[in-house]
Amino acid sequence: MMDIIKPRWYPPIFAGVIVLLGLYLTSLYNYLLFHSIAEVFSIVVAFGIFVVAWNSRRFLDNTFFIYAGIAYLFVGAIDLVHTLAYPGMGVFPEYGTNLSAQLWIIARYVESLSLLIALLFIGRKLRINFLFLGYSAAIAFMLAAVFYWNIFPVTFVEGTGLTPFKKISEYVISLILLGSIFVMFQKRREFDISVLRLLVAAIIVTILSELSFTLYESPFGFPALIGHFLKVASFYLIYKAIIETGLVKPYDLLFRNLKHREEQYRDLYEEAPNAYFSVGADSCIRRANRSAVELLGYSLDELIGRPVFNLYADTPNGKTKAQEVFQRFSAGQEIRGEELEMCRADGSNVWISLSVRPIRDTRGRVVLSRSEAVDITERKQAQQETERFKAVADNANYGITMVTLDNKFIYSNKAYAQMHGYEVDELIGKEYTEFYSKEQLPVILRLNDQLLKTGSFTNEEVWHSKKDGTIFPALMNAWILDDDNGKPLYKVGIILDITERKKLDQLKDDFIGLVSHELHSPLTVITGAVNTVLTEGARLSPEETRQLITDAALEADALSHLLSNLLELSRAQANRLLLHAEPVSVARIIQDTVEEIKRRSSAHQFILDIPKKLPAVYADQLRLGRILYNLIDNAVKYSPQGGEVRVLVKPEEERLVIAVSDQGIGIAFSDQAKLFGPFQRLEESKLEGVRGLGLGLLVCRRLVETHGGRIWIESEPGKGSTFFFTLPLSYS
Ligand code: ADP
Repeated sequence: MMDIIKPRWYPPIFAGVIVLLGLYLTSLYNYLLFHSIAEVFSIVVAFGIFVVAWNSRRFLDNTFFIYAGIAYLFVGAIDLVHTLAYPGMGVFPEYGTNLSAQLWIIARYVESLSLLIALLFIGRKLRINFLFLGYSAAIAFMLAAVFYWNIFPVTFVEGTGLTPFKKISEYVISLILLGSIFVMFQKRREFDISVLRLLVAAIIVTILSELSFTLYESPFGFPALIGHFLKVASFYLIYKAIIETGLVKPYDLLFRNLKHREEQYRDLYEEAPNAYFSVGADSCIRRANRSAVELLGYSLDELIGRPVFNLYADTPNGKTKAQEVFQRFSAGQEIRGEELEMCRADGSNVWISLSVRPIRDTRGRVVLSRSEAVDITERKQAQQETERFKAVADNANYGITMVTLDNKFIYSNKAYAQMHGYEVDELIGKEYTEFYSKEQLPVILRLNDQLLKTGSFTNEEVWHSKKDGTIFPALMNAWILDDDNGKPLYKVGIILDITERKKLDQLKDDFIGLVSHELHSPLTVITGAVNTVLTEGARLSPEETRQLITDAALEADALSHLLSNLLELSRAQANRLLLHAEPVSVARIIQDTVEEIKRRSSAHQFILDIPKKLPAVYADQLRLGRILYNLIDNAVKYSPQGGEVRVLVKPEEERLVIAVSDQGIGIAFSDQAKLFGPFQRLEESKLEGVRGLGLGLLVCRRLVETHGGRIWIESEPGKGSTFFFTLPLSYS
């Protein structure tokens, strides 16, 4: 039995014992005082039962408590009248002990019947107004029966004691109470177990109290004392049961729900896959969840109290941006998905997407900011890699493009679009076959078939169309790009515009044709002359033979010069033009060159304008001879009517200026600059039937520039030309 009394019940039991002891001591002093206190106590408790039941009726889904609560209001009221009617109180002097016993028995009937009916009412709808009305009427009737009509059975006869009615009533009441215990057990599921215990205990105590009253002889006897003790105890137990059901349990439940919910939220916060950290007004971290700890690599202790800005990286997207973001947050802006760089404990950086929400106190002031950080490092790295790849692709001079399997552009680098005369945006989403002309389409479709069958093709030459309708040749490579599962995803194409290459090829072909022709002509003359001399030497006069040999020699010279020019050019092209520089006499080289040319041109007059005392220049003799030969030879070639060919040498401050002028056909100003390029020949000069490759001036320019000098033309069409070049002076 003892083990069902839990330790937490010790204090109330102890208090109860003290109260009862106090009451007992009071009874020894003055029984009336004891009775009044005991009754007032139970009346107060009865009213308390009503007040608690009434005010917590919203929580009470069990109608028993509301019913019983209301009933106890009336029981308390009758008990009040009973207390006042107690012998010795002097409120109703004409009535004796009988009155108080009558009122007592009424109160007990009401109490026991109410408990039973309340139990039977469980699960039914309770009409509180009717209940009040019914109780008021019943009580009024009974009080009238006692006070007014005097028809209530007598309970106590002075001298004889309790009447059988009173005694039987006590037993009946005990039986009703027993019955209610029985019903209560049947309906035990409606009650909380601890409440059920309290109620059963209360009823048992009431029964005991009733039984002790059957032994009642006088209102001041010992049984009455015990009876009152037990009544106080039983009321208290009922009260406990009501408090337990109406207040403690609902609040417990409320708190349990709240606690549960709080735990759920805490779990949500703690176990969230995203990092959360709360920051106070001093910008120090107050809270952080597990993901935050993992994200940043600091322990929770290290995080709490740390200024949040310390956690951002020393990069433009780190501290600086974080401060700017938090300023915006403080100004009331919503912060969502800001991309920032944080710094982990190990020094590595981590990219996050940050959202910040304000946490307000009850007065609406922002006290904390709660940041949610999603680790986007991988995405960011992928993005950066894509951007880098795009930058590389956009700067490539290859056209790179990606099309879907149903031939729509989804990517083009700048070069690809530019090659075709489009902007990148104009291509995306379009079908790429639209960009080929009718003639090109069959080739493209054939290549496409090959691509789908074999997965790639390489170095196919395809003509592409530009936006303006022109076409250009391109070398194309393509392959199929698979997704992670090896399923074809896109077609990737890389094209190289080969217009220039084609032009060069053409140029090379032209060059070979030209050079072969230029080599062929002198050779024809030479072989012709030599063969004639060999086969018909006997028939020829010595003059004729001499002329033939001279012709052959001149052509051989021309051939030799042509080959020398070609050789110099190929050296220059290969960057192997090395000078054998030494101090040389320009005058002598000019004289030698003029002498050589003079031999085959009788129509021209050569005038040399060279100062007597000329400083030596530091130059490559042979190369200087080559420059002069080319220029003087041109002067002769392009002044077919003959005339003066003048070579002038003039020392200037630190250089020597050499000019070769003629009185020939001249060159229009607009043509002058281009003559120093390869294969440049003017139409006018071709009409004259003058042979040439258009390489002589180019060789001159290369050689002059390699010497550190400059070359230019002054000319007027029809009047003649002057070619100038300079050489740095050498005083060594
Ligand atoms: P080539 O003389 O073999 O054609 P060059 O490079 O020496 O090649 O000269 C290129 C062109 O410049 C000539 O074809 C000619 O049209 C023009 N040219 C060169 N020198 C003269 C000149 N003295 N007078 C007029 N035209 C000239």
